[in-house]
Order: sequence, then C-alpha cells, then structure tokens
Amino acid sequence: MITDDNFRQATQISSQVQGFLTRREIPPTPINFSVLYIYYSTQNVELNAAFDKAVKNKDSMDGFFLESLFNEHISNNTSLDKNILSPFDNTLKQTLSRIDTQVENEQETLFDLEKVDKALAKMGQHKALHNVVNFLLKSVSESQQQRKSLSEELSKTSEEVNNLRSQLEESRQEANIDTLTGLFNRRGCEQKLAELSIKDTHSSLIIDIDHFKKVNDNFGHFIGDKVIQHVAKIIENNVDDEDISVRYGGEEFLVVMVNKSIEKAHYYAEKIRNAVTKLKLVQRQTSTSLPPISVSIGVAEIEGDSDWLSLFKRSDKALYQAKNSGRNCCVLADRVMA
Ligand code: GH3
Ligand code: MG
Ligand code: MG
Repeated sequence: MITDDNFRQATQISSQVQGFLTRREIPPTPINFSVLYIYYSTQNVELNAAFDKAVKNKDSMDGFFLESLFNEHISNNTSLDKNILSPFDNTLKQTLSRIDTQVENEQETLFDLEKVDKALAKMGQHKALHNVVNFLLKSVSESQQQRKSLSEELSKTSEEVNNLRSQLEESRQEANIDTLTGLFNRRGCEQKLAELSIKDTHSSLIIDIDHFKKVNDNFGHFIGDKVIQHVAKIIENNVDDEDISVRYGGEEFLVVMVNKSIEKAHYYAEKIRNAVTKLKLVQRQTSTSLPPISVSIGVAEIEGDSDWLSLFKRSDKALYQAKNSGRNCCVLADRVMA
C-alpha cells in the first residue's frame, strides 16, 4: 500500500540515487538504478556490505561495478534453485513414486478380480456376487486410469522443472561472463581464483586502454565498445588456456597468469601490447581510420601476498607508473626486498 510516508521515503531514496549517478556520470539504466535503490533503502545486507567494502577500498564505482553487484546480489538465481525448485522437484518425484506404487497395487488387485470374474462367469451361478466383482473391477480400473493420467501429468511437470533448472544453470554460467567481450567478469574471476592457491607462483597483468576517452568522444560509445571487444580478443588470443582473462572495469582488463613468474608474464604482456599497436580499425559508415590504439600494462608476481587483491593492487600501481611514463608500455611492479 502506498502511504504518504513510504511515498516520501521512496522519493528521498530516488533523489539519493540520482545524486550518486549524476556525480559519477553513470547512466540511470534500470540495473544501475535498482542496485543503488536497494543500497540506499538498505534492503539487502550482503549488497550493502559489498558496496561499503568497495567504498572503503576506494574501488572505482562505475556502471561496471554496479552491474557486478546486480549479478551477484540481485539476479542471483542460486537461491531460487536451492530453496524452491529443487525441493519442489523432490516432492514431485516422491509423489510420483507413491502413485506408481499405487498403480502397481491396483494392477495386482485387477488381476485377482479378473480371475474371480472368469471363475464366476464359468460357474454361471452367484449372479449377485458376480455383479459385485464386476462393479469392483470397473471402479478399480477407473481409479487406476485416473492415477495413471495424474502420474503422466506430474511427470510432465517434473520434466518442466528440470528444464527450468538447466536454464538456470546456463544463466548462472552466463552470469560469470562479461556480455560485451565474452571474457570473465569479476564474479567469474572470483570463482576461477577459488581453484588456485595464492601460495603458488602466479602473476597478474592489469591492462588499460590509453586515452580511451578520446575514442568515445571522437567516434561515439558504439565504436568505443568495438575497440574494447578487439582488445579483449587480442588478450584472449595471446595468453594460455589456463590463464584467466577478465574484463575488470570499463576499458580495463585483468589477466591472472597462472603458474607464471613475472618474467614470463612480462613476455605475454609485451605480446599483447605489440598486437594492440598493430590494430587497424576503420569506422565503416564513414571509412574513417581510427587513430592507433595502445594499452599500458602493469605486471606483478605474488610475493607473499595474503590475498589476490594485494597482488592486483601492485599490478595497478605498476600500471599507474606505465601511464606516467608515456603510456603504450609495460611496467613491472617493484620487487619486495627480503
Ligand atoms: P588513460 O590513458 O589515462 O587510461 O585515459 P583514458 O581516457 O583511457 O582513461 P579514463 O579512465 O579517464 O577513461 C575511461 C573511459 O572509458 C571513461 C568511460 O566513459 C569509458 N568507458 C567505461 N566503460 C565503457 C564501456 O563499456 N564502453 C565504452 N564505449 N566506454 C566506456
Ligand atoms: Mg584508459
Ligand atoms: Mg581506465
């Protein structure tokens, strides 16, 4: 029910959301709006915790970040499967098996009744008893028929529930993938990282497109997106299958170089950087060539880091140095002296 009070409250939350979006120049898409609305109305404890943590870590609060919160905390369908579909399917299966047992029992009763029916018919006596047996035969057979069709219907429902569950599983997989590039998104990255040990030798690259804002400003967002896709493809084609390539931010990528030292990671980073400089892109409509694209890359190796974020932060610091050294280059993070 809409009361004056909750109308006022909703308006107040909406203006907080608007303020946030405007300050950061984030478009008010339904996803961005709903994430912030839920945040300001403190409806979802986990979403608020993730949001506050990002604020504390000074992570970038862009549309990309909001989308990752949306995928993780709002469109999360694991709970739908676990709490609703799976128990429902179990109950269905139990009911089905109970009905099938009843159908079998009725079948046995029917056999017996048929035997009696035949015997009575042969004898030609006991007319009244024969009528009773006939009546029983008819009603057991009818109830068996009804149960059979109920069982068929329930089987169909169970099949539908199973289809729904596999669709959910598919969309769960999709929720780990960035739609623009096909690389992992942050959520997918977290899941992949859970398979690795921070104690082993791994490295990370943080790759950022240089002066990307100019591409957007001069050629529009659509072409900007195409550039992001091309760079993503280059990254994917220049790392190993075991490495984890992630769209980490708008025009920023992370690659976790699995079982690779910083020297090896540097080699891959240079391959990527070089391949990007060779990109030749043309705006089809106007046949205008885009100016050369380049990336800056920060490279770091695990050195006693207790979590992944601390590794990525050192890559990020190296990336910052690469930007300050004129861009289109790779910088290795400082070695921590023992
Ligand atoms: P620098 O060399 O220092 O990295 O400069 P830059 O212009 O690349 O850096 P900056 O971070 O200032 O700009 C990144 C821009 O990327 C800002 C934002 O509008 C744009 N952007 C973020 N996400 C997307 C996206 O998904 N698509 C497009 N087309 N643009 C995006
Ligand atoms: Mg950039
Ligand atoms: Mg950037």
